[in-house]
Amino acid sequence: MTASQTGFVRNMGIQVNLVRALERIEKRITDGKIVYGLFLDFANAYNSVPHVLLFKKLREKAIFEEKEVNYLQAMYARYRIKIGSNYIRYNKGVAQGSVISPGLFNIFIEDLATELQESLGIGAEDILLYADDVLILCNSIELLHKAIKIVDLWSKKNGMELNKKKSAIVPFAPRKVKAIPFLHRLKNNDGKAKEWIVNRKELDGVPIVLEYKYLGTFLNFKLTTQTHMEAIRKKSDWIFIRLYPYLAQTSMDARRDMWATLIFPLFHGIFPLMTSETSVSALEKIYGLIKKTFKKMLLLPQSTSSEIIYEMIGVNPVDLVKAYYQEAVRKWTTRRNRSEWGWGTKIPRYNILLGVPNNLSRIIKMQCKICLVCKRNGQSELMSAKHMEDVHNIEIYCYKKLWIDIREYYVAKWHRLQEKKKSITSRLKRSDFADHWTATLEKIEEINKTRIEEFLGIHKIFDI
Ligand SMILES: [Zn+2]
Repeated sequence: MTASQTGFVRNMGIQVNLVRALERIEKRITDGKIVYGLFLDFANAYNSVPHVLLFKKLREKAIFEEKEVNYLQAMYARYRIKIGSNYIRYNKGVAQGSVISPGLFNIFIEDLATELQESLGIGAEDILLYADDVLILCNSIELLHKAIKIVDLWSKKNGMELNKKKSAIVPFAPRKVKAIPFLHRLKNNDGKAKEWIVNRKELDGVPIVLEYKYLGTFLNFKLTTQTHMEAIRKKSDWIFIRLYPYLAQTSMDARRDMWATLIFPLFHGIFPLMTSETSVSALEKIYGLIKKTFKKMLLLPQSTSSEIIYEMIGVNPVDLVKAYYQEAVRKWTTRRNRSEWGWGTKIPRYNILLGVPNNLSRIIKMQCKICLVCKRNGQSELMSAKHMEDVHNIEIYCYKKLWIDIREYYVAKWHRLQEKKKSITSRLKRSDFADHWTATLEKIEEINKTRIEEFLGIHKIFDI
């Protein structure tokens, strides 16, 4: 399992909630309506749950059997914290890092949802609870006031502290709308509309904002991908600057792995927004950034053929976005129907770069440089194999053709493995590939380099 796949599994619960939230918001804004997202932040939520109340609620809900509740209670009765050299008993909090804690917290907070439904008539689907991440969708400002009041009262009764400064209200609006409550659109001197700003700071102490990071995804008031894109750009640049000194010493294979582990997961948060994005150019920008970050990490020129980039990644991001959505919907429906989880659709992933050394990126780089001879004649051409042959009658090994060889070698080995697979854990050996490609690519790089240098030397390119 590659790192991006584990991320895939870990994020699944979050994806389900995000997809549900987005669907509820989009339903309103495609109808031309405005919907207010009330995002709640409870200060130190897990540590604040009073045990007495927690076990009272557990018994009332009768989700567990009495003996199970007793067992949990006994466990929590021994829950102590260390202060200095003393341990003190603590009668608050669900165990940090325990797998059941988010579930316990969900049960603890469920009566808040019930109250919002019963007193205000907010639909169950508009109250999104994911442990201590709470989102309430309100159709009017009046409803917002009332919801905040109910949350305030519930918090006081339940020993929780609503962190109002970190909570937020986002007024989600259709993209083309001209007026949005709480917001104001600035105008240029010539009267043309510019960006939106907030013109009311808060409502009942909760800040009104243009965007909020919910479950790892930046949701802005127009539900565009822009805010999250900026965040990815910033974060990936930061990572590159730190990794750059080490990149040249590693293999293509290892750099692909670094990208899959550190960069690609940054895009996971934008996938839910992409499934509903209607702007083709916005989507193209995201796929463009995926390819751009990959080329950068693999030290490949930005002019490297796009087709082989997806093959190097080993999975088509377009398919991945689709699968994310389908998987979220499937998980949600199986949960709702209480049916078996199953495995869902599996997207095959390949690592054609397995064991491929650094020579490949240098071979590609050479063919993506501007031809200095033609440049002298005022023409801007890349020193591709085709250009070298057609114009200068120099034969070099084309990197696109080389890539097909690498792919075919991998695919053949992969098929052979599937045929004689003894167990599901048997896998392709990196060393087999490394042995083969290290020798071959070194030779090809040397031949190409010699021929290009000779060619440039004849034309005394460095004398001018
Ligand atoms: Zn040329």
